[in-house]
Amino acid sequence: MNLDKKVYFDNAATTPMRAEVKQAMCDALSFFGNPSSTHNFGRSSKALIEKARKNIAKELGVTAPEIIFTSCGTEAINMILKGAVRDLGITQIITSPTEHHAVLNTVQSIENEYGIRVSLVRLNSKGTPDIEHLNRLLSEFLPDEKVLVSLMLVNNEIGNILPVTKVCEICQKYKAYFHCDAVQAVGHYPIDLSSLPIDFISASAHKFYGPKGVGFAFIRKGLPIKSFLFGGEQERGKRAGTECIHNIVGMEEAFLLAYQHLDKERTYIEGLKKYFIEKIRQEIPSIRLNGQSDNLQESAYTIVNLTLPVDEKKADVLLIFLDMRGIACSRGSACQSGSPQGSHVLRAILPEKEWNHAHIRFSFSIFNTIEEIDYTIEVLKEFLNS
Ligand code: PLP
Repeated sequence: MNLDKKVYFDNAATTPMRAEVKQAMCDALSFFGNPSSTHNFGRSSKALIEKARKNIAKELGVTAPEIIFTSCGTEAINMILKGAVRDLGITQIITSPTEHHAVLNTVQSIENEYGIRVSLVRLNSKGTPDIEHLNRLLSEFLPDEKVLVSLMLVNNEIGNILPVTKVCEICQKYKAYFHCDAVQAVGHYPIDLSSLPIDFISASAHKFYGPKGVGFAFIRKGLPIKSFLFGGEQERGKRAGTECIHNIVGMEEAFLLAYQHLDKERTYIEGLKKYFIEKIRQEIPSIRLNGQSDNLQESAYTIVNLTLPVDEKKADVLLIFLDMRGIACSRGSACQSGSPQGSHVLRAILPEKEWNHAHIRFSFSIFNTIEEIDYTIEVLKEFLNS
């Protein structure tokens, strides 16, 4: 056992912050003026926030007022989904069973509160939303019904990538609004909202080497979504509450660096994932890859989800075994750890007989190395042989 090792393979739960991000945040802490104040102190803070908004908007191909800062991805999702139903008169939501709970639980609460109809798009055999079925669901709605489609760009547990261009085409065809939960994609994939007709996206800084406690919603110009927090007129009346200046600055820095180094860092992380998969196949062939994990085109280069040849009950023992050897990974979404029901994503995509196997997710970052993978696979072998 090597107690000196610290291997972090849980980057889909949250990423470490880049040194530059920490520095930018420390510098921003000196700006204490309330961004809504009209004096010099306030204006200086406001200028920082507006610069961040402009820079983020530019990279996404949109205008600054279309970016609304929030406290996290979950808040952006709540704001968009609740706002769409309340302010746009949505009567139907189509989503999928493998969305993050930030979407599923919000949709359920809206369904109870507003009595709207919710439909789930079927998944294909690899766990990606079935485009034909989405088309059919939309075609069945009456022309005067207002429909919102909410589908995630990258699945946080299995890494599957949504065929987003096709979803956009179908939504346009049926004049449905489209929210894309892009929390696992922003900062990892180019997203050009000047060519993709998406109405809303949600994002979170702590998934792309930024701080926790900050995210943003993109709300396409002209969509009259109001604040769902009651209070002041911050964020052009779309999100009440004094902005967290240093978090927004940290997010801007993380966002800009992510896109500046995107190709190089993607190649590096993709290399790690490829190596991990090849090595697992060679050394522990009894492990299976879930969803599109082994398809580098259709799954995120950051995420691999595995089924191990051991009972589900042993999954927690395995996580402790790995943790004691300095290796951090997870059973799936961090928000659901401790849930007795297991992963709703794997239950939706795997045959029932496989539910009682142990599943774990490894997710990679720019800070990981090949040596860490070698070490982890040795530890996995040790566990399986024990
Ligand atoms: N959506 C997805 C796909 C996620 O992975 C997460 C976080 O894990 C969220 C939404 C929620 O984001 P946040 O943690 O910023 O609230």
